[in-house]
Amino acid sequence: IFETALRETHRPALTLDGHVVEVFANIANDNPQDLKEAVQNGAEGVGLLRTEFIYLDCETLPDEEVQFYKYKSVLEAFGNRPVILRTLDIGGDKQLPYLDLPYELNPFLGVRGLRLCLRNLALFKAQIRAALRAASYGNLYLMFPMVTKGAEIQAAKAVIAECRAELEAEGCSIPPRIPIGIMIEIPAAALMARHLAREVDFFSIGTNDLTQYTLAVDRTNSALTDLASGFDPAVLNLIQAVINGAHTQGKKTGICGELGGDPLAIPLLVGMGMDELSMNAGEIPAAKQIIRQISLKDARLVSQQALELETPEEVIALVKSAFPFIE
Ligand code: PEP
Ligand code: MG
Repeated sequence: IFETALRETHRPALTLDGHVVEVFANIANDNPQDLKEAVQNGAEGVGLLRTEFIYLDCETLPDEEVQFYKYKSVLEAFGNRPVILRTLDIGGDKQLPYLDLPYELNPFLGVRGLRLCLRNLALFKAQIRAALRAASYGNLYLMFPMVTKGAEIQAAKAVIAECRAELEAEGCSIPPRIPIGIMIEIPAAALMARHLAREVDFFSIGTNDLTQYTLAVDRTNSALTDLASGFDPAVLNLIQAVINGAHTQGKKTGICGELGGDPLAIPLLVGMGMDELSMNAGEIPAAKQIIRQISLKDARLVSQQALELETPEEVIALVKSAFPFIE
């Protein structure tokens, strides 16, 4: 079965009734082997370039020039396919040894992701300038992590505009339109999605954090893994709110948390109207196979039922009984 999946993985994934779902890869570095593997597995783009790993690989803060070459090589590897570059997402469980950040009692609720970048503008601007300079080598999209509200998006967009103006004054040519999106990983952002959608071109749902914040379960605490499931109807109802919020403003939404590559979640996500699924490259062939074996009509019915259930166990049992071929 896996061989058929691999052979067909370079074709787009359409449901039985002809609905297209984009399937992208999550990428953690600029290693040519990993980039090649994603393309070979049929990634139609990069749904999440985790730039924090590029920083983690460096012994000192990578400057604009170092970052420029790294982003350029990722963009070139994907040609005209979209590459969604997530700006630095450090803080919480991810620390950079060379960044001396203040101690926090609750780092997951602290200065992380976009919050940190907006408070360290020199660091943020170096990354944005590097990304904008690399943009003409491929199809760049920019995305901000850990957004709580619209004012943060406006502040981040102002930084992009400032970097663009500076670079253009320096004689650099940058593509006129670079799509800008945000991750939805905070329950408040999910509930306010229809408002936030006006500020951006796209959303990508980070279910790893969205699950942690919705259920108040530290994602690194192994004592609590039984409480944390992306199949929890509380999380699924938020995901549906995000998709509806995006669609009312004519914007697309993807998912780049681990749930997006989980075979049993795929019918639910497709049924809820998810436009794009981004996952580890190795998960792509099987995910495309599943999309091809379901109809949007059935997936919708099952996801609507799932949203009315009470526990993740009930949701998983429902998916298994509706789509017994999914393992
Ligand atoms: C997420 O939160 O789902 C996500 C994709 O980001 P990270 O796992 O890097 O926090
Ligand atoms: Mg996250």
